[in-house]
Amino acid sequence: MLILASAAEVTVVSKEARRAGKRVGFVPTMGALHQGHLSLVRTARAQADVVITSVFVNPLQFGPTEDFSKYPRDAEKDSAMLAAEKCDYLFLPSVEEMYPPGATTWVNVEGLSEKLDGHSRPGHFRGVTTVVAKLFNIVQPDFAFFGQKDAAQVAIINKMVHDLNFDVRIVVCPIMREADGLAMSSRNAYLNPDQRKQALVLYRSLMRVQTLADRGESSSARLKVAGAQVMAEEAAVKLDYFEIVNRDTLEPVADISGGALVAVAAYVGSTRLIDNILVTGKGNAAEPR
Ligand code: AMP
Repeated sequence: MLILASAAEVTVVSKEARRAGKRVGFVPTMGALHQGHLSLVRTARAQADVVITSVFVNPLQFGPTEDFSKYPRDAEKDSAMLAAEKCDYLFLPSVEEMYPPGATTWVNVEGLSEKLDGHSRPGHFRGVTTVVAKLFNIVQPDFAFFGQKDAAQVAIINKMVHDLNFDVRIVVCPIMREADGLAMSSRNAYLNPDQRKQALVLYRSLMRVQTLADRGESSSARLKVAGAQVMAEEAAVKLDYFEIVNRDTLEPVADISGGALVAVAAYVGSTRLIDNILVTGKGNAAEPR
């Protein structure tokens, strides 16, 4: 695996690959890689001829009081994990490489970027879409792989790709979980042993909704109350939101008969965690696209 720090070099290797008739798969990440990230790399490996992964902790998507400076970084470990997955190129740019002084252009998906996590984290999704648009232009991938774990991000990236005619196919991969159900996240590293146990309440609240939906409950209001009740059982965990929305528009839905995204965000100590499930009208868990 080759490590590249220069955007221009990445563009060259991608162009050369495509000129040779190869399909390029791209996995954007912020590093501190875990099995969730690696599942994206494996899917990319299976679907594309050349796999490019980026590791870049994007300052634009962190609020002033958020964890940008303490976000876990371990480039050596990340690159060893990616090499073991037979990733071809690791794009590891500096902040200056991605944002040379004087850059003033933003990409913002209005209407979606303020919903769910965008509501609690103003400016977050504008930072995400700006960096992803830049990465797409640098890497020019045929396919880009994202995790359903960040369900609002998936909706927003899909909308950006559609609105701005990006010539890239978005592939969404299922949420990878620890054995007890906790969604894998780089931020789980912040949790102490007590918090690690408390964090399970997010998954429990989603499973409660899944069970009720399986039994035929379709009212979002009632399902939300049930989910929020489970969240309240863990006093140390502060609920940010528990929402039932359309997976594409992120607008609330009154009932889940047509399928819905059930999404939760909460603070465990100062660590903000998110999780979600997709339910179908029949209550079965829906597959990510
Ligand atoms: P991040 O490094 O947190 O920006 O995540 C990079 C990509 O990995 C995003 O598309 C995430 O949705 C995805 N991802 C993170 N955690 C998981 C997980 N537990 N399962 C599947 N994908 C994940």
